[in-house]
Amino acid sequence: MAGEAIQNNYDAVQDEWGEICSQLKQEVGEKAFDSWLKPLSISSFNSGVMNICVPTRFMRNWVITNYSDRIHKIWEKKNPNIKSINFVVQAADMESIGGIRISGDRSLSKQISTSPAPQIYQPGASNTGASLNDVISVPLNPQYTFENFVVGKANEFAYAAARKIAESEDIPFNPLFLYSGVGLGKTHLMHAIAWRIKQRNPNKNIVYLSAEKFMYKFVRALRYKDTAAFKEQFRSVDVLMVDDVQFMGGKDSTQEEFFYTFNSLIEEGRQIIISADKSPSDLEGIEQRLRSRLGCGLVADIHPSDFDLRIGVLQSKAKQLNCVLPTKVAEFLAQKITSNIRELEGALRRVVAHTQLLPGKEITLENTQEVLKDMLRSYDRRTTIDEIQKKVAEYFNISVKEMQSSRRARTVARPRQIAMYLAKLLTLRSLPEIGRKFDRDHTTVMHAVRKIEELIKEDQGVAESVDLLRRSLEI
Ligand code: ADP
Ligand code: MG
Repeated sequence: MAGEAIQNNYDAVQDEWGEICSQLKQEVGEKAFDSWLKPLSISSFNSGVMNICVPTRFMRNWVITNYSDRIHKIWEKKNPNIKSINFVVQAADMESIGGIRISGDRSLSKQISTSPAPQIYQPGASNTGASLNDVISVPLNPQYTFENFVVGKANEFAYAAARKIAESEDIPFNPLFLYSGVGLGKTHLMHAIAWRIKQRNPNKNIVYLSAEKFMYKFVRALRYKDTAAFKEQFRSVDVLMVDDVQFMGGKDSTQEEFFYTFNSLIEEGRQIIISADKSPSDLEGIEQRLRSRLGCGLVADIHPSDFDLRIGVLQSKAKQLNCVLPTKVAEFLAQKITSNIRELEGALRRVVAHTQLLPGKEITLENTQEVLKDMLRSYDRRTTIDEIQKKVAEYFNISVKEMQSSRRARTVARPRQIAMYLAKLLTLRSLPEIGRKFDRDHTTVMHAVRKIEELIKEDQGVAESVDLLRRSLEI
């Protein structure tokens, strides 16, 4: 009975949230709504405290600064029980989502992981400080060096280009544009360039940041009418690296600013390095003039790895992890996990962590297979997103066209979310790739995955449907 009350309560706030979203959308406009508010979701509501999930720290800060007051005001009117709103970053970067599995354990609390310390929003208190990070560059990963980068056919060109920049006195080509699918070493190479330049010349001002961070910085500067200072920060940069620029797609004003920053740095003879998941000409939602500017230096892509490269990476990572990896096991992993190096590394880490927990236990083919059982099952049988869309649409009696449409009615939206969830679970496609199949962006997929994960724990009907669909797709 108590459980039912909690459920009802939860459903009620979910409905309220839906209404608040519609209102906010009208107030702030579709664009801002899609960028900042749509990705939010309710995690839980307990004793007056509303926990709302935000996908990244950057978004949390933004939402707290700009929207929390308004959200609280509207909500308070609807439901006086709400005392405070807690914006919680769910560790939802691609890596952690990549690890999702349907767990048979439904007893898991519905509270979503709150890895970084939750930030509590209290009405009336000043939230503008919001621990905003004023350092432009983000820290470099000490493991991402040239020494730790294994070179093979797939990446030798990109490696040579990166190395050339790192070792040159002048600017060999500008910009360097690196692109590849996810987990193939773009970020690693960028950090490696930065480390090497720093080593050769510690006075060089190197800035490495994600496109997302660039956008955040810029939008914040706009808000505080501080764009001059924003520009100034970049003016003193010797080497600017912007990772994952595909995420700038559709953000017109940021793109424009980026375009100017980019041009003036190039004119002043500063080195620029860019990465993306596609070639400049294929970048969606990026203005033509920026695309052509991005592609006017050297464009280098990293191809999917071959068997030898994967073996090389496994040996190198095993050495870093201080473990003995039998050849048989390395070959087994390199044969099975072909999608990307991040997945391969993740698998190795799991096996190593497992064996290190038990003293005296060595890595063998048997325990590797055992530890990776679930993961390998999905590799063995590659379900395609098309198949998933078809099956899910059939199951819910809608058409695949409807599933890909912009309709938001629950009868269509829920099956769409389930299909996105299953695509993440059963295929190796990245969030942006899945998004494209549904004509949505990656944050929508992220949101859908989280939503369904939540519903599986709370709603028997959804849990059963997902389970059934998964089984039928895994056959
Ligand atoms: P991307 O930025 O292309 O998504 P990353 O640079 O984050 O990929 O790489 C994912 C993981 O794979 C990192 O841990 C990185 O160290 C590792 N990795 C990728 N390529 C190589 C390589 N050639 N040698 C060693 N490690 C690699
Ligand atoms: Mg990367």
